[in-house]
Amino acid sequence: MKLLRFAKDKFEMKGIYEDGKIRRVIGSFFDNFTVTDEVYSEEEIVFLPPVIPSKFVCVGRNYAEHAKELGNEVPTEPLIFLKPSTAANAHKGEIFYPPMSSKVDHEAELAVVISKKCSRVDEQDALKYVLGYTCLNDVTARDIQKKENKFTRAKSFDSFAPFGPFIETEFDYENVGVRCFVNGEVRQDGNTRDMIFKIPFLISFISNVMTLLPGDVIATGTPSGVGGLNIGDTVEVEIDGLGKLVNYVKPRD
Ligand code: MG
Repeated sequence: MKLLRFAKDKFEMKGIYEDGKIRRVIGSFFDNFTVTDEVYSEEEIVFLPPVIPSKFVCVGRNYAEHAKELGNEVPTEPLIFLKPSTAANAHKGEIFYPPMSSKVDHEAELAVVISKKCSRVDEQDALKYVLGYTCLNDVTARDIQKKENKFTRAKSFDSFAPFGPFIETEFDYENVGVRCFVNGEVRQDGNTRDMIFKIPFLISFISNVMTLLPGDVIATGTPSGVGGLNIGDTVEVEIDGLGKLVNYVKPRD
């Protein structure tokens, strides 16, 4: 099932995506919801972030080729950092290019959405805490990250965490293509089989650091090919089975 949030005439609603149409649901994705007869086309609605996370937990350098391209070693345990919930952005949303930066990069990533409170879970139980999967762009001000050797400012600008368009609840994450296109040109073309730390291990590891709440998002790292974005660009993250997350790079005025 493909879960999403959207706005119609400024009203925020939830829905499921079926055969190119959006059917409104009422209730909670984390508990119970009922499917209504209200149906909308994509053209009639504005996509919203598919959930509202309390935090984005991101995994750095989880693909060996990407670690190498930025001159980093492959980590021996997951390297994790946070993006604030205020960085959330939606399918077809605008990524604002911050005046503080002159090198903003795309990072196409598979994201995991948590379904229920998750604390200190074992690897073998970890997938019981997953609501579903979606595309995410871990937008990064690379010049700031390099200058500070820290992640917080570089990763946290408003609009720097687009994800969606929907959360797929039935999905096998183990061998899927993760791609990024800028203005239609392929920039990243990886596969989740090359992840260093796999998803159950990541959920267990992170939940032994911090409690994950319903709607929290784990970004599982980016394959090689990260590169710069410019104002005016259209950037797309495509994952087999999860559709295409499209965003537009705009100036921050
Ligand atoms: Mg990343």
